[in-house]
Amino acid sequence: MRVAQLGSGTPEIAVVAGVHGDEPCGVRAVKRLLDERPTVERPVKLVVVNEAALERQVRFVDEDLNRAFPGGTDAETHEGRLAHELIEELEGCLAFSMHSTQSHAEPFAIVNQLSETARELVPQLPVAAMVETSNFAEGRLFSEIDTIEVECGLQGSETAAQNADRLTRAFLTAVGALPGDTVARDLPVYRLTDVIRKERADTYEVFVDNFAEVEPGDPFAAADGDMQVAQEPFYPVLMSPNGYRNVFGYAAEKIDELTPSPAAD
Ligand SMILES: [Zn+2]
Repeated sequence: MRVAQLGSGTPEIAVVAGVHGDEPCGVRAVKRLLDERPTVERPVKLVVVNEAALERQVRFVDEDLNRAFPGGTDAETHEGRLAHELIEELEGCLAFSMHSTQSHAEPFAIVNQLSETARELVPQLPVAAMVETSNFAEGRLFSEIDTIEVECGLQGSETAAQNADRLTRAFLTAVGALPGDTVARDLPVYRLTDVIRKERADTYEVFVDNFAEVEPGDPFAAADGDMQVAQEPFYPVLMSPNGYRNVFGYAAEKIDELTPSPAAD
């Protein structure tokens, strides 16, 4: 794990990259901050987490770090020990953790709960949606540390790296670490309600777009041509044919639409 800092004093905000080793976008954003060393109005901690996995360009070495929290010093896996180390490093910080996916090109935010912090900060980020994981947070970083996760775009793409950079700057501006103003936007909020499982098969297909409502009777996915049809309406989130081993993604409900309050200046 690599830890650095911008500014002096004890940081209350942290930018976190490389929780998953096959998602290089956030690491580039952190490296850029380290190269440019912008003057900050409050100290910021910068963390590149899973260096061993990043080196090998794999999601993890032993197990998924974002399912391994809280971990422990004597955990049996590399990620179990890393989870514990990261919690110690981030204690007292609001963390901004960057990811990328195989399912959706447009950036969106993921939070544990729709907290005041999330309501205030996330509409100031260039994201299309906010997703509350609520019941599906077990083992994730934000089950232990106050965290805003962002999905920056498609894994390994240049656009995801550029998005990571824009998202980081917007976050640091929103929390008052970088000078300037952010642009607030309307933001739909979704809550995960179900995991959409997939059976072992040779070919997987997904017929729906993330964040676009699926109607009852709509076929939404197939394994070896075996069609899954919606019983209830839902919004697909993180759905992709091959992104995860056992699941297509998640079903969500739309719970809110945040609208920016008029500018206060
Ligand atoms: Zn990730």
